[in-house]
Amino acid sequence: MRIADVHTHFLDHRLDVPFESASMRFDRRTHLLVEIVCEDGTVGWGECLGPAGPNAAVVQAYASRLIGANPLETEKIWATLYNALRDQGQRGLTVTALSGIDVALWDIKGKVLGQPISVLLGGRFRESVRAYATGSFRRDGVDRVADNAEEAAGHRKAGFHALKIKIGFGVPEDLRVIEAVRDAIGPEMRLMIDGNHGYDPLEAIELGNRAAKYDIDWFEEPVVPEHLAAYREVKARQPIPVAGGETWHTRWGFREPLETRAIDIAQPDLCGCGGFTEMRRIADMAALHGVRLVPHVWGTAVQIAASLQWMAAMVPNPVRRDPIEPILEFDRTHNPFRQAVVTTPIEQENGVVTIPDGPGLGIEVNRDALTEFAPKEAP
Ligand SMILES: [Mg+2]
Repeated sequence: MRIADVHTHFLDHRLDVPFESASMRFDRRTHLLVEIVCEDGTVGWGECLGPAGPNAAVVQAYASRLIGANPLETEKIWATLYNALRDQGQRGLTVTALSGIDVALWDIKGKVLGQPISVLLGGRFRESVRAYATGSFRRDGVDRVADNAEEAAGHRKAGFHALKIKIGFGVPEDLRVIEAVRDAIGPEMRLMIDGNHGYDPLEAIELGNRAAKYDIDWFEEPVVPEHLAAYREVKARQPIPVAGGETWHTRWGFREPLETRAIDIAQPDLCGCGGFTEMRRIADMAALHGVRLVPHVWGTAVQIAASLQWMAAMVPNPVRRDPIEPILEFDRTHNPFRQAVVTTPIEQENGVVTIPDGPGLGIEVNRDALTEFAPKEAP
C-alpha cells in the first residue's frame, strides 16, 4: 500500500462580527485540512492547528517524502518528516503541519483495518465525553461584561456543565467579567479562565488571587509560553490550578513544563503537538509526572473527531473519580464550516458528545463544503 497524493484544503470565512482573545484578533475563520490519497483509493483526513496558509506550505514541503511511502508506517513517516526539517524546525509550523499529516495517516490506518483509531490506540474506555463550551471572546462595539454574561447564560441553557471564558484584557475589567459570568451561570456550573498569555507574571498572580473566590477550575495560559519560570511563579503564588500547552510541540516541548511541574494541567493539541504518534508520548510523560491532561481543541469537525478518538482511548485515572473528566473543549464561536465539512455533524446534547465508532476518525468529509468555503480571493 502506497501514498499516491497529498492535498491541502484551505477553508475561509470572513466574520461579520470580529472577535479577539488577549493575543489574537479574528476577522476571519481559516483552517487547513490535509487529505492523503493512497494508490488503492483509500483517503485519510487530518487538520493542522494554526495559520492555514503557512501550514499548507509546510505540508506541501513534506509531500515529496510522503509520495510512495507506506501510510501504515506512521512512526517511520513521523521520524522521516521530523528529521527532514529538524535543524530549523523543532517546533512551530513544521510540527503543526506534521500533525495534520499524522492524523490523516491514522485515519487511513483505521480505514484499512476497519477499526476506529481509538481501538488502534489501545481501546475505548468510553463512548461519550462531557464537553465544555469555549467562548466569551471580546467583540467589537459591545459592553464586554454584559455580552460575556449573556453568552455564558446561553451556554448554561444549552446544557453545558462547564464553560471557559477569555481574559487577559486587564485585571479590573477581567474581574468584573468573571464575577458577572459566575452570577449568570450559578454556583454549580464549572468555570475556567483563559488568559491567552495576555498577562505578565505580576498581573497573573494578582488576577489569580482575586478571582479564586469565584471557584475557577483552571487558569489557562496566564503568561507567554516561552517563559516557564514565570509559569512556575504564577503556579506558586496564586491558588488556581494552572493549565497550558496549546503552543508547546512534541515531547521535547513538554519535557520542561512537565519535569518542573510548571503546570497542573497539560493541554497538548492533537493537531499541533505532533498528531496521534507524538500525543501518545506526551500523554505518557504527563502520567509519569502526575500532571493531568486535557487536550486543547480548536478546529473543524475533523479535529474534533480526532480529539474524540484520542479521548476515547485515554486511560482513566485509577484514583480520581471526577465524573466530568476527560472533558472535550467545544468551541462555540461563529464558524459556519466547523460542522459543514462532515456529512454527520458532531454536536453536543446536554453537554455530552458521543464518540464516533466508525473506521478511522469515524467521519465522512463533505466535499461540497470544501468547495463552498474555499477562499474567494487569494488567501
Ligand atoms: Mg487557550
